[in-house]
Amino acid sequence: MSPVVTISGGGIIGNYISSRLNSKNIKSIVIEKSKEDVAYNQNIRTLTLNPFSKRLLDDIGIDVNYSEIKQINVLDGEGTGSINFSAKEINSDNLSYVVFFNDLKFALQKKELERTLFQTHIKDIKEHKDNDPCEIILSDEKKIYSNLIAGCDGRNSNIAKLASLEPITGDYKQTAITFTALTNFEDPNLAFQVFSEKGIFAIMPLPAQKGKPTHTVVWSVDNKRLEEQTEEDYVRKNISYFEKKLGAEINIHSDVLSFNLFNHYFENYVSGSLVLIGDAAHSIHPLAGQGINLGFADADAFCEEIVNAYERKITIDKRLILKKYEIRRKNMNLLMLKSMDFFVDIFRSDNLYIRMLRNIGLSGVNKTKFLKKFFINHAVGKNKI
Ligand SMILES: Cc1cc2nc3c(=O)[nH]c(=O)nc-3n(C[C@H](O)[C@H](O)[C@H](O)COP(=O)(O)OP(=O)(O)OC[C@H]3O[C@@H](n4cnc5c(N)ncnc54)[C@H](O)[C@@H]3O)c2cc1C
Repeated sequence: MSPVVTISGGGIIGNYISSRLNSKNIKSIVIEKSKEDVAYNQNIRTLTLNPFSKRLLDDIGIDVNYSEIKQINVLDGEGTGSINFSAKEINSDNLSYVVFFNDLKFALQKKELERTLFQTHIKDIKEHKDNDPCEIILSDEKKIYSNLIAGCDGRNSNIAKLASLEPITGDYKQTAITFTALTNFEDPNLAFQVFSEKGIFAIMPLPAQKGKPTHTVVWSVDNKRLEEQTEEDYVRKNISYFEKKLGAEINIHSDVLSFNLFNHYFENYVSGSLVLIGDAAHSIHPLAGQGINLGFADADAFCEEIVNAYERKITIDKRLILKKYEIRRKNMNLLMLKSMDFFVDIFRSDNLYIRMLRNIGLSGVNKTKFLKKFFINHAVGKNKI
């Protein structure tokens, strides 16, 4: 087997890259350590895709149910500060789209089935000189010869370990809680985010389906608040605070899932023929729903560099391709990660002056058109290198 690119990790980003490269006749193979997902029972976890990520998926023919967010109202739970982001302000149809994680992963996995090896992982990689393909040895002793190895294997990336790349990590000491809900919000295209001492609470519309939940909640809570109770107890005790703040009924409709929140990034994404992409290269706080969007922007830059080199029929200098990808993505990703950390810190602060400033800050930005446009354009993925 000698594909141009071997992809470690058959998640959303790994399968997207495989599909995009193959649409340009560039051969790839996906190595996924878990079993093929044949079905899933409950759809709970969601992703918020920006219009740029959605367009990438449309371009490879992925068709799943999305809901459309046209406006987001952000409120400071403790004060009166607020800011509204609307698609109209940037002459766009939508700000973002909500999709069930499993629906998207399953659709992409199905598309790449023929090119995926399940229940195996890369055990060893032998680099050869110059641009010669590397020898890749799988856990079942199969061998693959490939020019490039893309690590799309999530936050504890096996490829990062094989490349001896050391992550820089941070612990938010928070837990992300997520569940679906039945609500009586009237506008099906409106999302809210409330920053409060009870946590950062986001509620977004789900794709419309009769008799199904209408919204998804992603709620980040400081771990010290969860010390003596389960996440579900915490949700049941505190949901009324947000119902009051938003003037709506929010009825829990699914199991309550939870994830510990950490961040990580790398000084280098590349080592020889190995490269990190998506959550393998970085993970951030979910407060702005940007994790997968950074992954799609990485994947787009990576595929563009490879396809450009192939289409110009130049000899592929793999190190140059990977370096270009790294230059395009590393600083953008770090900027997003640091910005999220800044927001987490100022909204966690109990300091009276910081609380006053954030109230004034939110309302001030709301009145300042160019600043608002800047934030919205960034969030919808328009600021691309
Ligand atoms: C609560 C929560 C809410 C979130 N909400 C949002 C949101 O609204 N919007 C958003 O943009 N992002 C969100 N994110 C982040 C988003 O889920 C991730 O950024 C995204 O899933 C990363 O995709 P990926 O394909 O890079 O990695 P992963 O989804 O981690 O996929 C990695 C794949 O690699 C496989 N794998 C792992 N190790 C190996 C190995 N050794 N060999 C082979 N295969 C391997 C895994 O089985 C998996 O299939 C959220 C995250 C959390 C925790």
